[in-house]
Amino acid sequence: MEDSATHIDKLERKNARLKSLLQKYKQSHHLQHALLQLSEQASTVAELTLLYPAIHNILQDYIPSRNFFVVLHNPVYDNLELSYFADEKDGLSVPLKYEQYFKEGLTGYVFKHGKTSYFTKQQTEQALEQGLFKAFGTPAEHWVGVPVYREQVIIGVMVAQSYDKNQGYSEQQIELLEAMSLYLATAIERVKKRELLESEVKIRTRALTQSNQALNDEIQQRKNALDRQQILFKISELATQSKNLDDVYQHVHNIIKTITYADNLYIALYDEQSHWLSFPYCVDEFNDNALPRPFAKGYSELVLSTEKCQVIDSERAKELIKLGVVERPVNVPPERTATSWLGAPLKTSQGVIGLIVCQAYNNKHEFSQDDCELITFVSHQIANVIQTHLANQELKLSHQKLEHRVTEKTKELRQANMHLQMQIEERKKIEQQLYHDAHHDSLTSLPNRSLFLTQLEKTLQHYQRYPEQQFAVLFIDLDKFKDINDHLGHQAGDQFLIGVAESFSHCIREHDLLARLGGDEFVVLLTHLTEQQQAQDVAKRIIEIMRKPFCMKGQCIQSGASIGITYSKPSYKHTDEIIRDADAAMYYAKNAGRNRFECFHPLLNASNVQHDADNMHHLDDLPMHFRSAEIITLDEQTRAESLLEAFG
Ligand code: GH3
Ligand code: MG
Repeated sequence: MEDSATHIDKLERKNARLKSLLQKYKQSHHLQHALLQLSEQASTVAELTLLYPAIHNILQDYIPSRNFFVVLHNPVYDNLELSYFADEKDGLSVPLKYEQYFKEGLTGYVFKHGKTSYFTKQQTEQALEQGLFKAFGTPAEHWVGVPVYREQVIIGVMVAQSYDKNQGYSEQQIELLEAMSLYLATAIERVKKRELLESEVKIRTRALTQSNQALNDEIQQRKNALDRQQILFKISELATQSKNLDDVYQHVHNIIKTITYADNLYIALYDEQSHWLSFPYCVDEFNDNALPRPFAKGYSELVLSTEKCQVIDSERAKELIKLGVVERPVNVPPERTATSWLGAPLKTSQGVIGLIVCQAYNNKHEFSQDDCELITFVSHQIANVIQTHLANQELKLSHQKLEHRVTEKTKELRQANMHLQMQIEERKKIEQQLYHDAHHDSLTSLPNRSLFLTQLEKTLQHYQRYPEQQFAVLFIDLDKFKDINDHLGHQAGDQFLIGVAESFSHCIREHDLLARLGGDEFVVLLTHLTEQQQAQDVAKRIIEIMRKPFCMKGQCIQSGASIGITYSKPSYKHTDEIIRDADAAMYYAKNAGRNRFECFHPLLNASNVQHDADNMHHLDDLPMHFRSAEIITLDEQTRAESLLEAFG
């Protein structure tokens, strides 16, 4: 019985041990599972704040740890900062007021020594007495501090404390705390790394965002610069490619359209001298024919006087009108009043020459400061182009004026020239007349002595070079010419001389020359003579003509001609000698009885001094002829016939 009782007792004890073992294994399994979960959480949790309650939960299942906290070392301030704090006495919130004292208290002691420390209340008091550390907060009955290491460097302390005297900490429980500290270290490291990474990513992201922003800004700036460059390029094209100002204005409008709303645009020019505004270009949905006007108080005038771009919306318009800065025409329907107005001055080095205006009706567009800035930039460039074109136009006008003046002047000059030409012609004629008069006899129009002598001189010179081309000179003196003057009057004598000259001219060839030396003396120069007989033939013809009486007023007078002939000969050096000899021969003929011809003979030279018949003894060998002039009275009919016969 005893054996069986013992056996039962044994069995019961065994059973109890087995139960206890089972409990132990169950607990151990539960712990394992919890630790596995913790390990998983430690490697995945994003924030430590989420890990601490997990650790705290496990701990509470295995050790008296309703009071649990974790401090971590802040190397920057060399401080122990609370990461997690749960305390039944000192509350659940983080007691910041203690934070600064952790370093000097029991926690600081563990951190300093880097070893797990277990203090009962009694041991704590003893240590306090020894001055190992200072006392803070509610004193615990049991206090366990476990250092937290990361890569062999202490980074914090994990503390569990119990205010229950009977609830102390076993070795196993402390081991569990130490194991927990490892998990915590792993989690801290991971989270820190993650935080570090995240902060790096944040910094990088921020840096990238900033650089992106900078890049975007730069891209925008470059785009703006490019846009402006393109506008500038277009404007520069204006200067060279536009044919006239209208063309320039049209292009300006197109350019402005690329930078802002420009459905309604006008260009105004301001004339400083007349104080008038003109509108050479205007496109407007309501009014596209702006008339010139004197400087007044419009929006345009505001731009001109301020020399600045103006943006005027309805509000500003009201304000400007109220201040009296601008005045607007009354009775303009609201839909025809611009709701937004943009005007930029056309500034050149010589001042403001006008403005460009864009306006919007019915709130179709609202001009901004950006528009203002851009149009100011563009209009500055455009102003110079317009200025150049205006100057060119002026130059062209003055050029045209000048050309007109030159044409007028040329016309005047041409007329003056024509007049002058006419005067020259007139003068030439006068000169010719003068020359003619100087070389011709006014009564008979025959060449006079001067012309004859010139011609004779030429002939003599020619002869001296070509002696075979002979010539002869006939010296003619009318016989008894004085009788005609005396009986019929001097005028009749003149008529007679005219008739004689005419008749004589029929007796010679074309190349021969008949001249009147003066009074009743004539000379004939015969050239191209092939034989001397030809000269005598001419003399005969003349004598023959003179045979016919000259009749006038019922009276007929018989004159005649005494002719002296001399032929060319090598001894003649001067024309005087020729005239002298011909004259001598004529005198001889006269003395020989008149109305006859005589050829010069060297013997006649002696007669140079005396011409009268009484002293001409040395000429006795020469043939002598003499006939006196006869005065015949004819009836009228016979006289008329004679006249006809004599002068054709
Ligand atoms: P002779 O036969 O000797 O030549 O006598 P003559 O009457 O012809 O007189 P002489 O030749 O000596 O004078 C010429 C005259 O002619 C002299 C002058 O009164 C005249 N006489 C000269 N020139 C003119 C003239 O132009 N017209 C006229 N009617 N008579 C003139
Ligand atoms: Mg005479």
